[in-house]
Amino acid sequence: MSFSALGLVPLLAHAAAEFGFSAPTPIQRAAIPVVLSGRDVLATAQTGSGKTAAFVLPLLQGLLADTAAAPGRVRALILVPTRELAAQVGDVLQRLTNQLDPSFKVAVVFGGVSINPQMMALRGGADVVVATAGRLLDLLQHNALSLAAVEYLVLDEADRLLDLDFSDALAKVLATLPERRQNLFFSATFPPAVQALAQGLLNDPQWVAVESEPGVAPAIVQRVIRVDALRRTQLLRHLIQSNDWERVLVFVATQHAAEHVAAKLNRGDLFATSFHGGLGQAARKQTLAEFKDKRWGVLVTTDLAARGIDIPALPVIVNYDLPRSADDYVHRIGRTGRAGESGLAISLVSAATEAHFRLIEKRQNLNLPREQIEGFEPVQPAIAVPGNGGVKGKRPSKKDRLRAAAKTAESG
Ligand code: AMP
Repeated sequence: MSFSALGLVPLLAHAAAEFGFSAPTPIQRAAIPVVLSGRDVLATAQTGSGKTAAFVLPLLQGLLADTAAAPGRVRALILVPTRELAAQVGDVLQRLTNQLDPSFKVAVVFGGVSINPQMMALRGGADVVVATAGRLLDLLQHNALSLAAVEYLVLDEADRLLDLDFSDALAKVLATLPERRQNLFFSATFPPAVQALAQGLLNDPQWVAVESEPGVAPAIVQRVIRVDALRRTQLLRHLIQSNDWERVLVFVATQHAAEHVAAKLNRGDLFATSFHGGLGQAARKQTLAEFKDKRWGVLVTTDLAARGIDIPALPVIVNYDLPRSADDYVHRIGRTGRAGESGLAISLVSAATEAHFRLIEKRQNLNLPREQIEGFEPVQPAIAVPGNGGVKGKRPSKKDRLRAAAKTAESG
């Protein structure tokens, strides 16, 4: 099937081909005709399945069809949870519109950098704004832009934007939008509570869900290795070296752990660095660009890098610390195995975290074999943990709320 058969005009179908997309992915096949029909959309599809183009292409078709509709006014708003994702989506839009209509203006705004250049950039208006919620609110307060003419609202990683951490900021942004608009909510995961919230914001939405094709081997191989917590760094080094992994994304629980583990790995002949919300924006940008450029072999990160970030040809991710929730697990492992490539996701499980991982497996309908690596066999027996093993449930604990507050500060 071609992009034209989905209803895209030749100009956009050609732009997709120029972009290197020879045929639409399943989510693009399912979502593009619905977005073009003008209906609200609630779309779920696997990580790395081409969601960005699934909303960007039909959105541009709508906007470019009528460039005189609201000259200089923001007609589409794309909200994302992290600065890196804002830059990534903005880049796709920019590259497509450069080919299609160089006068079309895309503004990308996010926190952690000076607000002044963003205010200047918005002065002449913009057709599309890609934003994180916090900085967008700051800009609205400075009267740097108006959202009164918005026709399209996209929430990318919608479940994250709708959850508790962002809900206040989102509500404030929504209050500035016209009621009549097309809403497009995309995510790889939609917990039931968030679905209910989304339904309340959408107008007779079409649900678009693309499952992985049955019978096809999953693109991401998931492995679980049992190891004592204190030996994880040594094991990680051994795995990287013995398997010749050229690039690995390692997830840890805290900013401090990211620094610490990266520093320990860096001591040998591995090139490791850290990536987290405690870094300045310039360092965040540079580190991610360098990792994408293959200048670092190992990037040790918090969940800041778990959502949406596209690192082409990333063969391996490692959960050094386990994710808190089953949904976070899906997003983390989704950084590998993108765009139809294969990928490997390894979770390191210790005596203390075994029960927690079992709950993640239960929520994801997984039952993965436990492996041990010779020379790194655990000596500590698994500990029975009462309760739910710390998996995020419906009601957040005080600790959850503190963590959430820290995460919001990270994503700015
Ligand atoms: P996304 O899920 O939007 O982050 O996309 C994941 C990766 O798939 C990105 O590297 C895209 O450039 C790539 N991609 C998206 N659509 C297509 C397509 N139709 N054909 C080939 N690659 C694609």
